[in-house]
Amino acid sequence: MAVGCLALNASFEPLTMVPLHRALRLVIEGKAEVVEADRNRPVRSERLSLPRPAVIRLTRFIHVPRRFRRQVTNTFLFARDRYRCQYCGRSSGDLRPREALTRDHVIPLSRGGMNVWENVVTACSPCNTRKSNRLPVEIGMHPMVPPTEPHFVHLSWAVRRLTPVQARYIQLFYGREMLEQLEELELHAR
Ligand SMILES: [Zn+2]
Repeated sequence: MAVGCLALNASFEPLTMVPLHRALRLVIEGKAEVVEADRNRPVRSERLSLPRPAVIRLTRFIHVPRRFRRQVTNTFLFARDRYRCQYCGRSSGDLRPREALTRDHVIPLSRGGMNVWENVVTACSPCNTRKSNRLPVEIGMHPMVPPTEPHFVHLSWAVRRLTPVQARYIQLFYGREMLEQLEELELHAR
C-alpha cells in the first residue's frame, strides 16, 4: 500500500513523496497535474470523488537548493549506512534496550571535523561513547565503509516504499540501476 504520492518536478525528475492530502491540494490549486492515479480507490469528500493520485507532476519547475540536498539528517544517515553501526557492525535490531543508533563525527567537531556527509557515520550509542572525542587512529576505530555523500533521491526512497507504478518513474529518470539500488536498500531497511 502506498504511503503517499510521488511528486515529480516539471522536468519529470522525481523529487519526493508527499502525503495524499498535500498532493490533492496541489492538484486542486492547479500547481500540479495527476500523472498516474489509482482509479480503484477514489478519494471522496462531501462534494466530489477524485481518483487517488499516485504520481503528480508540478506544473512549474522548482529549483531544489543544493544545501537542502546536502543536509544530513539521522533518518537519511541511518538509511545510507543500512541501519548498522559502522564500528561494531550491529544493526538496529541487534541493539539492547536503551541503546540507540546515533550520529558519530569521524573527526570530532571539537577536533575541527565538520557536520558533512563525508564526516558522519551511524554508530551505536556504546561505540559513540567509547570513541568520544578521539580521532580514528588514536583509538583504532575506523568506519566499515568510508562515508560519502549519497544521492539525494537514493536517500528519499531508502526510507519509503514505492508502488510499482511509482517505481517506473524512478527508472524512467534514473535508469534501471538506480532502481535496483533503491530496492536493495528497501530490503535492508525492513
Ligand atoms: Zn557499535
